[in-house]
Parts: sequence; structure tokens; C-alpha cells
Amino acid sequence: MKIKQRKILVLCISALIFLMCILGVIINYFVEEPSREEIFEEGYKITSADDALDNGLIIREDFLTPNLFSRPGTSLTQINNIVIHYVGNPGTSAQDNRNYFESLATTGETYASSHYVVGIDGEIIQCVPLNEIAYCSNDRNNDTISIEVCHESESGEFSKKAYQSLVMLCAWLCNAYKLDSEDLIRHYDVTGKICPKYFVDYPTEWSEFKNDVKVMMKDIK
Ligand SMILES: [Zn+2]
Repeated sequence: MKIKQRKILVLCISALIFLMCILGVIINYFVEEPSREEIFEEGYKITSADDALDNGLIIREDFLTPNLFSRPGTSLTQINNIVIHYVGNPGTSAQDNRNYFESLATTGETYASSHYVVGIDGEIIQCVPLNEIAYCSNDRNNDTISIEVCHESESGEFSKKAYQSLVMLCAWLCNAYKLDSEDLIRHYDVTGKICPKYFVDYPTEWSEFKNDVKVMMKDIK
């Protein structure tokens, strides 16, 4: 009799677990995945400099004056990739590059800007808010975040500090916008331009960089 009762009990528990699993599958089916726009909205709310600071990431907001040539104010409504660039001007600082973008407002020389510039000493300046497009990645300006990185020499290799800041910045942004480290792309992948030079010349370094971001994504929010 006792054995029979135990069998019934085991049967009931198994049936219950089975039903709960079925229920889970049904709920999962009906709960919709957030759209890219919803993820963007959520990500935009949390990608403030204060939030970055919680992760040990110091970002200085020095937004460009709205103007036709570097900050047109066009809305960015979703983010599908993060595009990495090198400034191509050895020895210049993040501030120099930010100021160059600002100067375009008066010179009208060309259309250029980026959301972030990472300096040789690892400093990060944000030039354009993340709900607006920057002029950096050609046909992909409308759905990407762009990051320019400063470098000391013509080789375009990033300093250790710049590299570390770039890894952290990318990991933080990938987490916020539900992107994968494979969603990091080079300017080269958009247009074939040799940019960022070092990561085009050395594809294994590029793979290693993406892997470093992937590891960092687990460590920060
Ligand atoms: Zn570029």
C-alpha cells in the first residue's frame, strides 16, 4: 500500500512538472520580443554618463553645437551595430578631434563627426547624443553608433589605455542595446575603407578585440 501511494505521489509530481513546462512554453510563445525601437528607447535611457561612471567608465559629454555639417539633429531610432574607426591623424587628442568636428559648423569643409572619441590616454569624449545620428559611417549613419579612436603612430595601433577604454565602452553599449560582440564592425566592413587601419591590417587582432569585449560584457552592467 505504501509503495502504491509513493508511486502515485511520484506520478503526480511528474505530471505537475510536465504541466509547468508546457505552461512555460505557452507563456514564452505569447510574450513578444521587444522591438529594436523598444530596445533603443530602453538603452538610450540607461546610457548616461552617470550610468557609465557606475561601471568605472569616465565619459565626458562635450556635445557639438547643432549644425548641418557635424550634428544635424536627425533622429537615430535603432542601433544595429557599433562601428569602430581610427582618426587617421597620429598624435592628435580626443579633444582635438572633437574640436575639429565642432569647427565644421563654421568652415563647412566637410560632413564629419562621431558619437564618441577615445583618446590616447584612454579619455572618452561624447560629441553627439545617442538619439541622434553622427556623420561617420556613410550608409550606416542611420542605425549605428560610431566610435573614433586616437593613436600615436601611422600604424594606427591603439595605446593600451585607449584599447582598454574602447573595450569597456563597447561592452557597456552592447549590454545596453542588447547587441552581441559580433555586432561590432569596422568602418572597413561598411565601405572597404582602410579604417581602423590596425584592425584591417591585422584581422586576428580584430577578432581578439571582439573577444575581449565579449568577456568584459559579463563583468559590467
Ligand atoms: Zn572610419
